Order: sequence, then C-alpha cells, then structure tokens
Amino acid sequence: MGKATGFKEYKRKTESYREISLRVKDYGEIFTGTHDIEHLKIQGARCMDCGVPFCQSGTGCPVDNLIPEWNHLVYTEQWETALNRLHKTNNFPEFTGRVCPAPCEGSCVLGITNPAVTIKNIENAIVDKGFAEGWISAKPPEHRSGKKVAIVGSGPAGLAAAAQLNKAGHSVTVYERADRIGGLMMYGIPNMKLGKDVVQRRVDLLKEEGVSFVTNADVGGSGDMPEGRTAVDVKALHKENDALLFTTGATKARNLEAPGRELKGVHFAMEFLTANTKSLLDSEHNDGNYISAKDKNVIVIGGGDTGTDCIGTSLRHGCKSMVNFELLPQSPEERAEDNPWPLWPLIHRVDYGHEESTERFGRDPREYQILTKEFVDDGNGNVAGVKIVEVQWTKVDGRWNMEEVAGTEKVWEADLVLLSMGFLGPEHYVSDVVNIDYDARSNYQAEHDNYTTNVDGVFAAGDCRRGQSLVVWGINEGRGAAREIDRS
Ligand SMILES: Cc1cc2nc3c(=O)[nH]c(=O)nc-3n(C[C@H](O)[C@H](O)[C@H](O)COP(=O)(O)OP(=O)(O)OC[C@H]3O[C@@H](n4cnc5c(N)ncnc54)[C@H](O)[C@@H]3O)c2cc1C
Ligand code: SF4
Repeated sequence: MGKATGFKEYKRKTESYREISLRVKDYGEIFTGTHDIEHLKIQGARCMDCGVPFCQSGTGCPVDNLIPEWNHLVYTEQWETALNRLHKTNNFPEFTGRVCPAPCEGSCVLGITNPAVTIKNIENAIVDKGFAEGWISAKPPEHRSGKKVAIVGSGPAGLAAAAQLNKAGHSVTVYERADRIGGLMMYGIPNMKLGKDVVQRRVDLLKEEGVSFVTNADVGGSGDMPEGRTAVDVKALHKENDALLFTTGATKARNLEAPGRELKGVHFAMEFLTANTKSLLDSEHNDGNYISAKDKNVIVIGGGDTGTDCIGTSLRHGCKSMVNFELLPQSPEERAEDNPWPLWPLIHRVDYGHEESTERFGRDPREYQILTKEFVDDGNGNVAGVKIVEVQWTKVDGRWNMEEVAGTEKVWEADLVLLSMGFLGPEHYVSDVVNIDYDARSNYQAEHDNYTTNVDGVFAAGDCRRGQSLVVWGINEGRGAAREIDRS
C-alpha cells in the first residue's frame, strides 16, 4: 500500500493540459509531455489498496490493469517494476493513458466519499517514463510455432491481437485498407489527443518483433479503389492461414435523414476528421486535401468523443463560430440516484474541445435538447443554416418520451455542418464473402471471451463484434481473441 493515511492527507489533483491559448494554435498533443514525479508519488499515495479493488476489474478497467500494485510502486519510486506490471495486462498503456475515459476512476472505492485516485495520469506517466528511460524495446519471440494468422484491420483490437499472437510465436500478418496503421487511433482520434508519432512508435516496435503489416490492402474489396489501394482475396486468406481474425471496426456512420442533407457543406464527422489527419501527416495541410472550417460558422450535430474532436479540430482551423447540438438534456453535475458507484458516472463533463471553445467564444458550445429538422439552402446548393426545434424529455411508464416544444423553431447560421451521431456497426462486404452471421445490431456474431464466428477458423473482435466502443475495450478483445486463436 502506498501510504496508509495518504487518502486523508492529500487531495486529488490531475496533471494540467497545455495552456489553451497555445495549444489551439497547433496540432500537438494537449498534454504537456512532462510528468512531475513528486506530484505523481503523492497521487499514488492516495490509493487505499482496497481488499477488493473495484478499479481493476468488473465495472473498472476492462483490461484488468493491476492498479493498486502500480500505485504503490510509483509511490515507492519503483518505476521500472511498475512498467512491467502495467505491460502484463495492457499492450499499449501509452494509448489508454492518453485517451481512455478511465472507467477505473469511476469505480475507485475512494470515489465513494472523496475524489478518485488519478489512475489514468499515473498509467500515462509510467509508460512515458518507460520510453524516455529506454526500458521499452522490441522483444521478438525466441521460437516460432509454424502457425499463421491473418488479421484484418489495424486498430487497437487488431494490434493487441497481433502483439499477443506474435509473442506466442505465431506468424502474424495485419492487413489494413488505409495507408497507415492504427485504425481509429490513426485516422479518427486527432493528433491533439493522441500523437501519431506515439501510435507509429508502437507499430515500429511490433514490426521489429516480427509482425508483418500490409497497408492499402482492402480485404474483400472490389470495384473502383482509391489510388494505391488493392483488393485482397478474403477466401484465399482464410485458406492460407490457420486462423483469420476480423478486427474491422464499426465504421458505418449514422446519417441524419433531414431535408437538405445533400447540400454542400454537410459532412459526416469522419470525412472531416480522417481527411484532416491525412492531409496534416502527408503535407502539414499544404496539399489542401481536407475540409476546412476556417472562417466558417460550424455546427456539430451530436456529442461524444467524435463531436468533441470535431470541435477541437474546427477551432484549430480557425472557425468563425462553434455550436454543438445535443438531443438529450445536460447530464447532472453529480451522480443521479439510479447511477450509483461503482457504475460509470453519467455526469456533466467538460472535455478539451469544450473548454477550448469556451475560451475562444466565451461560452460552452453545447446546446441541449435540440432536434434538427432541416438543412437550409443558400440558393446555390450550399448549406446556410440548420433549422431546429427544441424538445422536452419526460418519463412515461419508466420510458423516456421526446416531444417537440411548439413555437421553439429556429434557424442557426452554418457554413459547415458535421454529423457526429454515432455508428451503426461494421461494414459487411468482407464478412459476407465468408458468410459470417450477424447479431441483432448487425455486428459480427461471436461471444465475448470466445470470439469464434459461425465459420470455422474465423474470429471477430473489437468494435466489429461489440459495436463502437473504446480503445481499452479494443485491447481487451484483441487480447482475448489472441488467447482463443492460440488455444484453437
Ligand atoms: C473520432 C473518434 C474519437 C474517439 N475517441 C476515443 C477516445 O478518446 N477514447 C477511446 O477510448 N475511444 C475513442 N474512440 C473509439 C475508439 O477509437 C474505437 O472504439 C477503437 O478504435 C476500436 O478499435 P477496433 O480495433 O475495433 O477498430 P478500429 O480502430 O475502427 O480499426 C478498424 C480498422 O479496420 C480497417 N478495415 C475495415 N475493413 C477493412 C477491410 N475490409 N480490409 C482492410 N482493413 C479494413 C479500418 O480501415 C480500420 O483501420 C473514438 C472514436 C472516434 C471515431
Ligand atoms: S486502461 Fe483505462 S480503465 Fe484501465 S487503468 Fe487505464 S485509464 Fe483506467
């Protein structure tokens, strides 16, 4: 245990992000890149080393990180041992340490009466120190099993599976249709939240350890392809490998079927975010191959991480104004009675994009209980505004019911509208070729902790199996699928 009385003596204090006025001028990470070791020791000392550490399992950390152990090791300055403990459960703590929403902190026992331990900060500091000190290096397996595995999709699920299978001595090839490896960690989550050098550093380590990567490889693809991309025969992959794992993500975006959807300037969030990152990485935006928000009135429809990332990216382009519509009411500041500890706290949160927008425009960009009715035409086929109506939510027989509020119709000016309304599951063109069954939500049908589909030798993990989720769940599923493939 860190310090028996630490939780009584010290207050929770998270590491600060870079100053807003500076960070919105570039695409560097919002984190400062430095860790105050003395500060982190004190934060680690707050851990109570509970008999039943809810933080590390159940409703807490999906990869069962050994949190009380590394809190103690940080408090006693045994950083390298802490890193080794962290890598036992998590292949990529530098990703989760940056982007995980930290369900562990929501279920920290200290959180019942006091603010939770700053678990995510400590995780990030351990792995950053590990890289800085040179403690993390490629460790190729000593023996090869002769077993071959093909993985389709290179997000956290695919990469975690590749890392684990390679460690077990199997020969792994990861196929990715994009031109860079990383899935949504490369072309989704923007640079500010997760630097692409951080993603590439881990991919390079995996390569050194013996994992093969094939980019621009559209498995099951057919017809016209973007330049440089080629189709890969999925049946051949199935035949030539001992196992085939799909980790293709939940990439089908939810549309907003309102009049005027076809107008120029109305885009899916992912069209905006993907092109932004690619152009930034290819040419520092000099190729102009991205959708610019510069000098535009931007409306983001829908919240979540994707909505926040659209806000942060638009601000960096230099947008003229920013509004974010949410259909639901604002969450309460404190847990509601039906949302007790150790459940994930459904409370109002201010993410990096919200605070940046507040600093730039003097108010939080979010407008709650707003239903979009129509996109307004400027007369030349461009979007000029969004017509909305306010809605009211009431509980009828235990179910939420939404009603439009008469007389609240309004048009908000907009030159760029970004739709961030979630995802509907995986694309099916690759899975249809091998006749995979789907569940009721159109995800690839396979049980969690088993990952086998109805087709012999074909496995599925990550967002394509569970629906759009989190990086940490991708790692959980990739590791689990690797275990099952290894056993098969
Ligand atoms: C904008 C945005 C922000 C997010 N922010 C966060 C966050 O802050 N924290 C967090 O924890 N989670 C966040 N998420 C969610 C998180 O990124 C995903 O849950 C996670 O990446 C899913 O991992 P995955 O490996 O299952 O799939 P993905 O990361 O989606 O990777 C799937 C990969 O498969 C490839 N692929 C698909 N079909 C084929 C094919 N036929 N052939 C070859 N390749 C194919 C795709 O190109 C893609 O690269 C965010 C998501 C988005 C969209
Ligand atoms: S991966 Fe996420 S849930 Fe697990 S310890 Fe890290 S921040 Fe917490």
